[in-house]
Amino acid sequence: MKLRVVVLGAGFGGLELSTVLSEAIGDRLELTLIDKNDSFAFGFSKLDVMFGHEQPENVRLHYRHIAKPGVSFRQEAVTAIDPAAKRVKTDKATYDADVLVIALGADYDFDATPGLIEGGNEFYTFGGAKRLAQVLANFKKGRVVIGVSGTPFKCPPAPSETALMLHDFLTKRGVRRDCEITLAMPFAVPIPPSPETSKAILAAFAERGITFVPKKTVVSIDAGQHIVKFDDNSTLPYDLYMGVPKHCVPAVVAASGLTEEGWVVPSTKNLKTKFPGVYAVGDVTRIGPPKAGFFAEGAAKVAAASILADLQGGKAPAPFDGAGTCYIEFGGGRVGRVDVNFLSGPTPTGRYFEPSTALVAEKKHFGSSRRARWFGLK
Ligand SMILES: Cc1cc2nc3c(=O)[nH]c(=O)nc-3n(C[C@H](O)[C@H](O)[C@H](O)COP(=O)(O)OP(=O)(O)OC[C@H]3O[C@@H](n4cnc5c(N)ncnc54)[C@H](O)[C@@H]3O)c2cc1C
Repeated sequence: MKLRVVVLGAGFGGLELSTVLSEAIGDRLELTLIDKNDSFAFGFSKLDVMFGHEQPENVRLHYRHIAKPGVSFRQEAVTAIDPAAKRVKTDKATYDADVLVIALGADYDFDATPGLIEGGNEFYTFGGAKRLAQVLANFKKGRVVIGVSGTPFKCPPAPSETALMLHDFLTKRGVRRDCEITLAMPFAVPIPPSPETSKAILAAFAERGITFVPKKTVVSIDAGQHIVKFDDNSTLPYDLYMGVPKHCVPAVVAASGLTEEGWVVPSTKNLKTKFPGVYAVGDVTRIGPPKAGFFAEGAAKVAAASILADLQGGKAPAPFDGAGTCYIEFGGGRVGRVDVNFLSGPTPTGRYFEPSTALVAEKKHFGSSRRARWFGLK
């Protein structure tokens, strides 16, 4: 009998977990990988699309390329999850699993920020990034406010990267002097676990005349008056607003009974949920580490090791350490890096690596190595 694994979501977590299981037990595996989309793209490609460095069609990695022993991909939308029965319904079929893995990522609650869609622009979806690419191409003068509608949000460095990349974009177009850039964030500093990284980003902002406004969460946008309103009742006028929407679990996960205070909370030891045989990895969870690809992948490795240990009667894997790397676009053709560890010590720690062109190559390799590993593409 083959092990029937159903993996919901083919992002960082689902792709890595499917790859590890296929490599280990491909001949004894019947793994169904389900995603509503036909392709995957790295989160950072949204910034590349927004600033015109990439065309949207060039950043997509199509799931039809997946050819792994024991793995079948299905492009279907998950409509119901019964974790107690390990049964899943999609818009096309019903699946029963021996092991069920929830890797559906984080969704966005646009309604939580009134005015965000009418009065501003979000850059956390590909649709939003594409729209902003057009808006930015015609933006010549005025104040840009970059804001965040709540924590947790994906890739905490992304709003800072956006401010630095926007500076380059406007400078290249010869309009930087006529524009102001303000970044408002819920955090006291750009990267709370790494004071050194935060210091370097704040220095880069100061050099470029970018204003950093700490400890402010956006609650609404007044589209008529062009005003951003924050959680402390303060306001900022804007000519162009670029926002990170409030995050939430996908509706199908919220309805499944798997969440606690809005997120799935599996054990950090093995990523098992309270339902036997049901695992959760990546952005759909809240267990300490930030919502970023590296951490979703790390959790997926531990979950896969735990599935194999249960199957083969082996030793339980080492717990998830919440360690990972984030590359940070500093502009000027340089990338910085911070290695963070969220679960090994009493408080999160971070180690900073200065921006360089060598790190540009390393970030490129981060993408190309996953492209090869998950999709078999050069
Ligand atoms: C602007 C931006 C920049 C970023 N930069 C970086 C970066 O530089 N480095 C980094 O590590 N991370 C970065 N990230 C974060 C990274 O993209 C995510 O943290 C990562 O993709 C999470 O992986 P995941 O597997 O948990 O979820 P995802 O990769 O989001 O995958 C979830 C999958 O589930 C599918 N899905 C959801 N609901 C359903 C449903 N009902 N039915 C079927 N399928 C469904 C989705 O289509 C999706 O493919 C960035 C994110 C953004 C928005």
